[in-house]
Amino acid sequence: MNREILKIAIQKSGRLYEDSVQLLKECGIDLRNVKDRLRTVSENFPLEVFFLRDDDIPEYVEDGVADIGIVGQNVLLEKARSIQQVEALGFGKCRLSIAVPKSEQYAGLKSLQGKRIATSYPKLLGAFLKQNAITATVHEISGSVEIAPGIGLADAAADLVSSGGTLFMNGLKEVEVILESQAVLVAGNELSVEKRDILNQLLFRIRSVRKAKKSKYVLMNVPNERLKEVLPLLPGMRSPTVLPLAESGWSSVHSVLDEDEFWTRIEQLKSAGAEGILVVPIEKLIL
Ligand code: ATP
Ligand code: ZN
Repeated sequence: MNREILKIAIQKSGRLYEDSVQLLKECGIDLRNVKDRLRTVSENFPLEVFFLRDDDIPEYVEDGVADIGIVGQNVLLEKARSIQQVEALGFGKCRLSIAVPKSEQYAGLKSLQGKRIATSYPKLLGAFLKQNAITATVHEISGSVEIAPGIGLADAAADLVSSGGTLFMNGLKEVEVILESQAVLVAGNELSVEKRDILNQLLFRIRSVRKAKKSKYVLMNVPNERLKEVLPLLPGMRSPTVLPLAESGWSSVHSVLDEDEFWTRIEQLKSAGAEGILVVPIEKLIL
């Protein structure tokens, strides 16, 4: 049997590496010897993993050296390759922002008119300036963009920010957001039917893992006469499970709660008569 293998490119080391490997592991894909390797083949899923610099991933996917990849949207959009985003992955969140010296009076975009802005993202910055009808000089530099204003190389910087700590330490303040970014799964346009099929299996697993992370399994004891107050508070997959307890007059109620509404629901459940509320993480959630 000559089964095809799907080739995925992920970052070799850096901010996306751990989460990318972790996601594949949570999808039940065994990866051995990932440290210091250029590539590895999973033993229980038709996937081969290539470890690359993130900047090279869009090109490798476009050229078909890898079939799919995990990169930041910032890299995907800057490289502007003809590949598709197939799924947002929820990690590696950051912003591509313009920052100016803290001491400077910033009065909106017009303050950038005629300025020199250093960045590693000339395409995204250029498009942003054009869209806002600002004429400025874009200085492309490959790293340490945040020090450029301090050493007089530029008047402002456009760089990736998450907490803003690095900017602050370099005497800068964030003034404009060009792009909100996160890691995404990308795919080439010409996958064989068999590879598409493997990609769909992988996507199904990724979605189940991510849904599970957003949900909690909750169990609680409820006096029977208060079930009518408690049950409407619980969505569940279809509807909550209600089982009699050994002690008569009481039920055990099981349900699934969404992370976003978790704490408000728990408060409401307690006031509606629920006791001994047990909250359990969910590993996978198949709908
Ligand atoms: P490589 O050696 O692979 O080229 P790199 O130095 O270009 O690595 P990292 O700093 O590891 O890249 O960042 C990888 C990606 O992580 C970024 O492209 C971005 O999508 C995301 N990211 C999340 N938060 C931040 C942040 N605060 N600063 C920079 N990148 C971030
Ligand atoms: Zn890089």
